[in-house]
Amino acid sequence: MKKLISIALLSILLSQTMLAQTTPQVFTKGAMNNMGPTYDIKVWLDTLPDKSNLFAMGPYDKMKGEITVFDGKPFFASAFEEGKAVVSQSWDIRSPFFVYSNVKNWEEFNLPGPLNSVQQIEENVAAIAKNKGYDLKEPFAFRIGGEFDQMTAHIVTPRSPDIEGYRPDIKSQNFTLENEKGEILGFYSEQHQGVFTGSKSFIHVHYLRDDQTFMGHLDKITTGNRSLKLYLPKKQAPVETGMRVNDTDFSKGRLGYIQTIDLDDLVKFHGHLCDGLVVGHLALQQAMEQLYPDGLIDRTNTRVVSKASPCLTDAAIYDTGGRYQFNSFYVSDAIDGLFVVQRIDTKKTVGVQMKNGLKPKEIDQLGAIAVKGELPTCDLDKLKNLEDDFTETLLSTDPKKNFIVTEISDFNWNPILKSTYIKTDIINKNALKCGK
Ligand SMILES: [Zn+2]
Ligand SMILES: [Zn+2]
Repeated sequence: MKKLISIALLSILLSQTMLAQTTPQVFTKGAMNNMGPTYDIKVWLDTLPDKSNLFAMGPYDKMKGEITVFDGKPFFASAFEEGKAVVSQSWDIRSPFFVYSNVKNWEEFNLPGPLNSVQQIEENVAAIAKNKGYDLKEPFAFRIGGEFDQMTAHIVTPRSPDIEGYRPDIKSQNFTLENEKGEILGFYSEQHQGVFTGSKSFIHVHYLRDDQTFMGHLDKITTGNRSLKLYLPKKQAPVETGMRVNDTDFSKGRLGYIQTIDLDDLVKFHGHLCDGLVVGHLALQQAMEQLYPDGLIDRTNTRVVSKASPCLTDAAIYDTGGRYQFNSFYVSDAIDGLFVVQRIDTKKTVGVQMKNGLKPKEIDQLGAIAVKGELPTCDLDKLKNLEDDFTETLLSTDPKKNFIVTEISDFNWNPILKSTYIKTDIINKNALKCGK
């Protein structure tokens, strides 16, 4: 029964990520409700792995103002002097809670006026999104562009005297704006109250004036009957995980038996869906695209060196057809990156690695403790959730951006037989359930 349930969960995850059209994922760091009295910093913007087409918002530093990232441009605004907003740009800034999403393509819709409150923005955005087939259960970014009759926006100010810009008894500076031209950036979510939306709201909205002389958190709005433009993230085609492979057609047969192998085939072979397996599969897909530009992978003509992880080695032999006993597969932790893949006929060789910073560090930190068998049972579940989130990221973002393939000109194929690697994915097989 247990097994049935986990297989069902896996197939839901696979079908959600692979079949359904999705909007770009919304990520969070820290939470509004967990900032605490000292507004501990939860993210350095510098360290965000992918800043292209980034849209984001959060408080600037320890309540020194507001951050809004518009299409990869990091604006931060502060109001250290009464009535005066100063807008600057830098990646070298920090935030105590942060929401962000990389959105490359947007779909434009008409948003009829009037909009006379932030609440109405929420209702109208939800209505249009729902009508256009967006899943309101999934968080998404949105933008509203146009001219606005009146707005009230605020910029928060520091709460403690040791922070630059502190003014006694002032927690934020309000601004009344008229005849504005600019853009509102918002994040919609029905499940992030207290994280990045208030307790009674499903949206968090910031405003940036067209000439970039003002930016702040939007509290009130009056648009009159003007019609505005609403932009929603374009739904993405899911990441293509299939590989077309060419094999022989029977035990003594000829080359030409062509089939498509997919991630779920590999999952059955490996035993479970895990982030390492997805990393391996997508990395090999990228590597083999370089070796077989026509898209047909000859599994009788490919050999591979893999790092020792149980997930990577399984992906390597399944996807490439390489086997140790035929001198077409071996394991080495001395290679750069994840795999070295070679075409036997031309000797063309490529190495493939994952982009630095893509994998959340916590996965490797908790993973290292789990491999020692020392991770508490409830933390095993936490680690699984982190890995599932990472899997989802990998299956909804362009693998071309996530993996780097480099040609190796003088690769020395040097098979070693070593059978002392540790199968790390069975170490905790008898761990108790969380809470038991
Ligand atoms: Zn805000
Ligand atoms: Zn695995």
